[in-house]
Amino acid sequence: MAVPKKKTSQSRRNMRRSHHAISAGAHHECSNCGELTRPHHVCGSCGHYDGREVVVDTATAAA
Ligand SMILES: [Zn+2]
Repeated sequence: MAVPKKKTSQSRRNMRRSHHAISAGAHHECSNCGELTRPHHVCGSCGHYDGREVVVDTATAAA
């Protein structure tokens, strides 16, 4: 096992971790139902994309 010659200082370790913060994922509001969705993805609640219905839920749209 490789053994480090010098212990990484708290400052060095923290400087390395300065880029490790996680950021919130991108989202936008569905133009049809207002649900928050991922950009460039079909809305999961109403199946709309780019202002039109592209996925029809057969369980609810049978009538
Ligand atoms: Zn929607």
